[in-house]
Amino acid sequence: MNDPLFLRGLVRTYRSEAGELPVLRGADLVLRAGEIVALVAPSGTGKSTLLHLAGLLEKPDGGAVLIGGTDAGGLPDPARTALRRDRIGFVYQFHHLLAEFTALENVALPQMIAGQTQPAAQSRARELLAAFGLSARESHLPGKLSGGEQQRVAIARALANSPAILLADEPTGNLDVNTADIVFDELVRVTREHKTAALIATHNADLARRMDRVVTIKQGKIEPCDPGGTAAG
Ligand code: ADP
Ligand code: MG
Repeated sequence: MNDPLFLRGLVRTYRSEAGELPVLRGADLVLRAGEIVALVAPSGTGKSTLLHLAGLLEKPDGGAVLIGGTDAGGLPDPARTALRRDRIGFVYQFHHLLAEFTALENVALPQMIAGQTQPAAQSRARELLAAFGLSARESHLPGKLSGGEQQRVAIARALANSPAILLADEPTGNLDVNTADIVFDELVRVTREHKTAALIATHNADLARRMDRVVTIKQGKIEPCDPGGTAAG
């Protein structure tokens, strides 16, 4: 299986003084090249947990995460970090841009960390910002951008290293309805242009319908979902 992302039988249980909370109980999902999949499920069902495991930000208690056919579970930490850096872009609900750096620098940085020269990184950063209509905002600090602009920069940054997979955790959840709509369209458009596979968690069934496929989480497992149905939270 050389699909960009293959989640096989993922198990994740949170343990605390209050006891055990099984969140994922054998979750399976394949993301094919260029496919855009919506993950629509109520709050607390494990969307963020699943995305963090898929993004190699956390490790499962059971099952496997395969990135382009490579089982991340068997890798030493440096290889795991390299796999995450080269193959995966992650967008959070809140942008997490670096406040001291301009929009252009925020998008260029991941490429420089990956070994690109500054001119090459900045040139690609300019292209990405232009794709999101942000050319006039290159030298703005995040604090001087609107919420929608901040989130566009965060998406551009996630795409900076041409990842095979984009993971987005309620990427428009902090935006007003109209802005969310526009940013979402741009996210889908640019992701399609780059032929990036994407897994996007959202509460919004209207947005989810614009994607290739919709899945939900039920009792810790991934199931196909009709976005017009009751699974939207
Ligand atoms: P979603 O993103 O769908 O809202 P999450 O993956 O954030 O769901 O959380 C799923 C469940 O796991 C929730 O009940 C949440 O409270 C719990 N949870 C999430 N992270 C932790 C953690 N680090 N420790 C304990 N419980 C957690
Ligand atoms: Mg969440």
